[in-house]
Amino acid sequence: MRIKKNTWLVVGWLLLLLLISFAGDLLSRRKILSEFEDGAGPIMSVYFLAVGQGDATLIRTPAGEDILIDGGPDNTLIKKLNRYLPINDWQIEYLILTHPDADHVNGLVEVAERYDIGTVIMTGVFDQTPAYLRLREIIESENIQQQFIEGPRRLLLAGGVELDFFYPQQRLVDQLIDDANNSSLVGRLIFASTSLMFTGDLEEEEKLLKLGLELESDIYKVGHHGSANANSGEFIRAVNPDYAVISVGLDNRYGHPDYRTLNNLQKIGAKIWRTDQDGDVAIYTDGRQIVHCP
Ligand SMILES: [Zn+2]
Repeated sequence: MRIKKNTWLVVGWLLLLLLISFAGDLLSRRKILSEFEDGAGPIMSVYFLAVGQGDATLIRTPAGEDILIDGGPDNTLIKKLNRYLPINDWQIEYLILTHPDADHVNGLVEVAERYDIGTVIMTGVFDQTPAYLRLREIIESENIQQQFIEGPRRLLLAGGVELDFFYPQQRLVDQLIDDANNSSLVGRLIFASTSLMFTGDLEEEEKLLKLGLELESDIYKVGHHGSANANSGEFIRAVNPDYAVISVGLDNRYGHPDYRTLNNLQKIGAKIWRTDQDGDVAIYTDGRQIVHCP
């Protein structure tokens, strides 16, 4: 008798939790929709997660696929994923690692252990960062699909979303390079007429300019945490974003973001958000409009 009663109690609590989470989702969805001027179609959600001094961006496409770009310096990421992914969603369809520095890769180990990962996209560059070595071990042992970017590559995802990688332009798999920052994957996420560009911690942005690539993007995940080693006036003018998001730790020892980067963004009139001051930055788009919803 006692077991039966306890079982019912557990089932009751679980149902209540599900109901609360469902009602919460419904309310926040209504609030987001009300921010769009003339109604919205299917929505893509982009969360720039406040993970301290590092980068982690979660994207949920209109088709419900999850893309995670980098994982931040520690397991703060797990709490954030619990907050933004639906309660029963344990699948991350695309895991993108821009480069294997600890502030981008550390948080991904726990994610790869807990979540069902569809495809890992990275350069495969040689690096001894312990979390990177562990991540590659997990990829091998779990037989997770890998795609190494070694030149321009465009992936078409469900629901009209595209991932367009255009850097690096050579194969880096298991190659040692001087500065991991400059091995960063650069690409754009495109949904209808809206786009988000990410450059990891790439400093050699003049190479992108020289290649004559189309860089203009609505949203710019500001390169290298707003460092002045990237983000020259010429580069910022080429990207010309309406919205710029800087992922940076409060009072970090690098002095990121640099005032010159902020100046360059202000000069072109970009709206700037910073994860050290604004916390998680949530942006939504239906492929035409872009709205920010705290
Ligand atoms: Zn970094």
